[in-house]
Amino acid sequence: MSHDSSANRRDVLKRAGAASLATLALPAAAEAAAPMLGVLRPSIYRFKLGEFEITNFLDGFLERPPHPTYGGNLPAEKVAELAKANGVSPTKFEHVYVNTLVNTGKELVLFDTGNGKGRDPNVGRLPALLVEAGYKPEQIDIVVITHGHPDHINGLVDADKPAYPNARYVFGEVEFDFWKQGENVREARKANREQFVKVAVPLAEKSTFVKKEGEVVGGIRAIPTFGHSPGHMAYHVESRGQRLLIWGDVSNHYIFSIQQPEWQAGFDDDKDAAIATRKRVFDMVATDKLPVVGYHLPFPALGFVERAGASYRWVPAGNQFNV
Ligand SMILES: [Zn+2]
Repeated sequence: MSHDSSANRRDVLKRAGAASLATLALPAAAEAAAPMLGVLRPSIYRFKLGEFEITNFLDGFLERPPHPTYGGNLPAEKVAELAKANGVSPTKFEHVYVNTLVNTGKELVLFDTGNGKGRDPNVGRLPALLVEAGYKPEQIDIVVITHGHPDHINGLVDADKPAYPNARYVFGEVEFDFWKQGENVREARKANREQFVKVAVPLAEKSTFVKKEGEVVGGIRAIPTFGHSPGHMAYHVESRGQRLLIWGDVSNHYIFSIQQPEWQAGFDDDKDAAIATRKRVFDMVATDKLPVVGYHLPFPALGFVERAGASYRWVPAGNQFNV
C-alpha cells in the first residue's frame, strides 16, 4: 500500500514536472491576456542648461474642443481643416499644464503652481511629482507667477496654507495690480478674479513686483508679454551662454496657436494684444533659435519655433538637452 502510494506520488510529480516544462515552452500568446492599463504619460523631465538644472512637471491634462477654443472668430471648418492637415483630431485635444523648476545652484525657482487640488482628478499633480523628482516643498526659494489665471495660481495654497512655506514670490506688477484692483475684468474671468484675491493678494508682503525686464535672480529675467492676460510675463533663463525662454501662455497650443498666431484664442484676455505678442515672440525665438518651454505645450514642453513659409511650426526638442 505504501509502496503503491509512493509510486503514485512519483508518477504524479513526474507528470507535474512535464506539465510545467510544457507550460514554459508554450508561446506567450497562450498566456492569459494582459489587462489594458490606459495611457501612461511622461510627467517629469529634468535637463541641463549651462550650469542650471531645469525640471518640467506635467501638473495635469484635460480634454477640450479645438473650436471655439482656437479660431473662435472663424468658422469651425477652418479649424477642423488645420487639425486634419496636421493629423490630429478636429473634435478634441488634450490641454496640458506644465510647471518648470529651475535650480540655479543657489536657488530653487518654481514657475507657476499648477491647478492645485480639487479642480479635477487629472490635474493638480505638481506637489506629488515634485517629491517624486527629489524636492521638498520647503526647499522652494522663489515662486514666480507668469500671470494670474487659475491654472497658474491655484497651487499657491494647499488646504488654505501656503504650499511653499519658505518661498518668496515674484509677480509682474501690472498683472498683480490688475487682478487686485478688479477693474475691467471680463465676465468669463470674474471667478478668476475672486480666486486671485483669495490666494495671491495675501502674499503681497512676501512678494516682489517686476516692472518691464526686471531680474528675478542672476540668470533669470522677466520679459513683458502682455495680452493673454493684462500683465503676462515670460522669463528668459541663461547659464554659461545657454538660453531658454519660459513663455508661459504666449501660445496655448502647438498647432493651432503656433501655425496660426493670428487666430483668436478663447483663453486670451486681450485678443489683439495677445496676437501681437505671439507674432513678436515667435519672430524673436525663431530668429535666435532660442529654445522655448511653454506651459500648455505637449510634454516635456521643450522645443523650438521654426519659420514655415509665412507662418511658424513647433519643433519638439530631441535629446540634445541631456548632454
Ligand atoms: Zn494657462
